[in-house]
Order: sequence, then structure tokens, then C-alpha cells
Amino acid sequence: DMLQAYLTSQKIYQNLKDIYEKDDLNDPRVKVFCQPVWNTKTGVFSTAEALMRLEIPEVGLVFPDQFIPMAERYDFIHTLSKIILNKTCQNIKQMEAEGYVIDRVSINFSVQELHMDCFCEDIITIIKDNGIPFHKIAIELTETRNEKDFLSMKAVIEHLQDLNIKFYLDDFGTGYSNFERIIGLPIDIIKFDRSLTILASKNDESKFMVGSFSEIFKKADYQILFEGVEDEHDELQCIDMNAQYLQGYKYSKPIPIDQLKGFLTKAS
Ligand code: C2E
Ligand code: CA
Ligand code: CA
Repeated sequence: DMLQAYLTSQKIYQNLKDIYEKDDLNDPRVKVFCQPVWNTKTGVFSTAEALMRLEIPEVGLVFPDQFIPMAERYDFIHTLSKIILNKTCQNIKQMEAEGYVIDRVSINFSVQELHMDCFCEDIITIIKDNGIPFHKIAIELTETRNEKDFLSMKAVIEHLQDLNIKFYLDDFGTGYSNFERIIGLPIDIIKFDRSLTILASKNDESKFMVGSFSEIFKKADYQILFEGVEDEHDELQCIDMNAQYLQGYKYSKPIPIDQLKGFLTKAS
């Protein structure tokens, strides 16, 4: 009921505030889940997306829709991102030490973080301190309508790109995606939102439209990832539309990152 929902959101807020104030890169309440990504060209899983969860006493596992908007509103989000980045680096290092092949893990950042003066430095410091190569981490960003956001996004990408960090444009097809702007950004991978995967199944006209977007990006040398691939029909259709990477429940739901090993190949 409403009172219960209110008390839960109070607890979430208190914990977010406490995580922010402690600023501990190993805070145990912040959990890294991830989804393995299928490479259609190599036929293996060698990349993944990190997805944040909170584990809060008396509340349990909390999903992004219940805390990301709040963390953004009160400016706690960058602290959470740093923790996810740190823990992801630790996991990559551990998996590689055990012989697993992992090309990179992509991490979601919120657009407001890009305006922080410390953003690039924080990323660089955390990756360096963990002793993994920069190219093992990728950054997922979502486009917004705002010109100021776009300029910050461009500046950050240009700054970090020299280190071989890859950039993914998240949620293409929702909102205000603007070809002219995107083509001007040095992005590596375009993530087609699940709504486009669904749209392409609707009828021939829709499929033609989504397929045409994918052709344009392919010609402009971007790699394409389709999100929300749930069954074989989706898979075949996306492969038909120039998919280099596929992600969705067909392969795996989000899992704790230590379970990613079950999807990776081992170096021989
Ligand atoms: P997103 O970046 O678009 O992440 C993909 C979401 O789609 C995930 O939800 C994932 O569980 C879900 N999904 C994956 N495959 C399928 C599928 O086949 N079918 C359906 N119906 N859904 C699928 P999740 O984990 O709840 O994350 C939701 C959103 O929360 C993310 O959307 C992202 O915007 C945000 N988020 C997650 N982790 C972080 C983070 O560390 N930092 C920030 N800033 N945002 C995050
Ligand atoms: Ca994402
Ligand atoms: Ca997405």
C-alpha cells in the first residue's frame, strides 16, 4: 500500500545518502549485475553490460527504476557509478586471472555526470588503480535533446577516446535521436532500443524503416547492438539488420557479475 511504498522509498533515500557520504568504492550495498552480450560474428560471449542493483537491509534487492531517478535528483548518482566501475574492474581482473576471455564490460553513466569537472579524472583513476587496461571498460551514454548535454558528451568522449575506452550510444530510437548529431560523435557502438526490435516485427514497413537506420549506421562505420532480443525470431531478424551484437533475455537475464563466467570462453 501507499504507506509501505513511502517507507520503502525513505529507506532507499537514507541508504543512498549514506552511500554518498561514505564514498566507499567497495560499499557492499551496491551490486553489479550484468547481461552477457552475444557477438554474432564470432559466435561467443566476450562482452557484457553492467547493470546496477542495491541490496538494502530490510528492503532487499532494489531495481534501477526504484532508485536511479532519486539518485539523479539528489546528485548521488556519480558516487554509485564510481562504485560500479570499481567493482566491475575488480571482477574483470579476477575473471582474466582465472583464464576467462573478456573483451570489455560497458557501464551506464547518467548525462548529468558528464558536466562534472572530475568525471574523466575519476574514471581514469579508478581503472588505473585496478590495474586493468582502459579498453576493458566501455561507457554507455544516452542522447538528450539539450545542446549543453551534447557538448559535454562530445568533450568527454573526445577526452577519453585516446585511452581506447569505447563509447556506446544507449537507447537509440527512444526520444530524440538525431542523425546529424550522432554522426558527429566519435561513438563506436549504437544500441538499438528494444522498442525498435519490437517495431521491426510489426510489419514489413516498420522492418524496412529499422533496417534502413541500421544500413545508415553500418555505412557510417558504427557497430550495431540490438537490445531486448527475447527469442529466435528476434535474433534472426536482428542478424538480418546488420547486428554485430545481440543482448536480451534469449541469452540471459541480468545476473550477478560473478556468474558471467558461465558464458565466457577460456583461453587455451
Ligand atoms: P538500459 O541501460 O537500457 O538497460 C537495459 C534494461 O533492459 C535492463 O533493465 C535489462 O534488464 C532490460 N532487458 C534486457 N534484456 C531484456 C529483454 O530481452 N526484454 C526486456 N523486456 N527487457 C530486457 P534494468 O537492469 O532494470 O535497468 C534499467 C535501466 O536502469 C537501464 O536501462 C539504465 O538506464 C538504468 N541503469 C541500470 N544500471 C545503471 C547504472 O549503473 N547507472 C546508471 N546511470 N543507470 C543504470
Ligand atoms: Ca544501457
Ligand atoms: Ca538501453
